[in-house]
Amino acid sequence: MAKRVLVGGIWHETNSFSPVKSDLDAFRRYLFLEGEAVITGSRGTNTEIGGMIAAAPAAGLELIPSIYIGAAPSGMVSREVIDLLIGRLKADIEANGPLDGVLLALHGAMVAEGIDQADAFVVQAVRDIIGPDLPLVCTIDFHANVEQALVDPADVLIGYKTLPHVDMGARGEDAARIISGLIASGRKPHKVFRKLPIITVPQRQPTHESPMREIMAELATVEQGPAIVTASVLGAFAYCDVPQLGMAVLVYGEASAAEAAADRLADAVWSRRAEFKPDLVEPAEAVRRAIAANAGPIFLVEPADNIGGGAPGDGTYLLRALLDGRAREAAVVIWDPGAAAAAAKVGVGGRFRGEVGGKTLALHGAPVAIDGTVTFAAPVRYRRDSTWMTGQPADLGLVATVEAGGVRVILTTERAIPFDTLHLRIPGVEPEKAKMVSAKCASAWSGIFGEMAEGHIYVDTPGVCSSNVERMPYTRLERAFYPLDPDVRYP
Ligand SMILES: [Zn+2]
Repeated sequence: MAKRVLVGGIWHETNSFSPVKSDLDAFRRYLFLEGEAVITGSRGTNTEIGGMIAAAPAAGLELIPSIYIGAAPSGMVSREVIDLLIGRLKADIEANGPLDGVLLALHGAMVAEGIDQADAFVVQAVRDIIGPDLPLVCTIDFHANVEQALVDPADVLIGYKTLPHVDMGARGEDAARIISGLIASGRKPHKVFRKLPIITVPQRQPTHESPMREIMAELATVEQGPAIVTASVLGAFAYCDVPQLGMAVLVYGEASAAEAAADRLADAVWSRRAEFKPDLVEPAEAVRRAIAANAGPIFLVEPADNIGGGAPGDGTYLLRALLDGRAREAAVVIWDPGAAAAAAKVGVGGRFRGEVGGKTLALHGAPVAIDGTVTFAAPVRYRRDSTWMTGQPADLGLVATVEAGGVRVILTTERAIPFDTLHLRIPGVEPEKAKMVSAKCASAWSGIFGEMAEGHIYVDTPGVCSSNVERMPYTRLERAFYPLDPDVRYP
């Protein structure tokens, strides 16, 4: 008979430097699945729960859906969200007992009001409800800030192995298979957790580039060991001002093999620490280089305003540089609900004059005046067409495109994470035909646009996701970290 496993979760990467609070409404607007909708809304998608659903029949599991919610990466999650989630999980665990296990899809870098490690808080709450013995397996993002409080209540944590993230479904499948094994054997694997005192930035973490490529190759070798259940190397998320920052290694399996594997992986990271330093170019110079390039598109990547990392996506330094540099065939997306509505009101073919962007944080630049023709005005909704969370719905709200000089400025009502091509195509920009395209992300652009890109330049603008960690105003780190403290030692 199929084993009965409750499935649920929460997905939020919290940038604690951002003032844009992630309240219940932000979750309801982005991803809010309850009951049967957890299954119907996830089936066939490249998400963790989509993978759990795909693997469930072969793993002998009957999935009992509870709640799965998420919000666009942004500031602190409000306490009501955490309380609602735990309340719903508790009610469903109690109403559906006896269960054989629980699967949770989590991020691992969620910070809530008064709770530094909110994922750990949720997992501990579930453990307290189900008791010490019931198998509990969780998936976490590659950017999880893992600490002991997260490791303890979960029997197994499974991290993504890719950046840009394309393996959510595969990790969900792992989770289903692993919990099935725990249920069948009645035994739990030995856990090894190694925290490394190093802060790295998304720009230098892609798993198809050095140094992560070599580290992930080591991980693949380690996982082939017969005594290893699963292993993860977590890149961690630098934009949380919390004590538990830093990369981590997790290995589950037979005790001595797992300890040795964890040491080997930790050494693979630590010995390459100097290679995580990013290359960055000033905005005006980046625009000059893109104009001088023979062919396009050149992607002007702006990690400091990385929407996927919780930045507002309304930074104006690069827009200013594009206009000042008289860039042609350029495109930039700016989150600005007021300007989007005003331009949409003007209508297609009309002239829009107004200030756009720079309305959330002084750090991200002042609003910029633009003057141009409205070429698109309509609500934009679609299902993601690229490798990231493929098939998941996206809603940009009302969107307007203004052609200002040679720069097409796409103004959105909801923040448009540049994790698909449709957020450009629908408002009228074919990225492969553009000379230069701004991407407010750190590494995601390469998964989506890599094949069409003639080149890319990482632009050094100020912002809450700056690739210069020396610029980040940390106040709560409890230990020395590389590269802030270059002489820090490990172990
Ligand atoms: Zn991530």
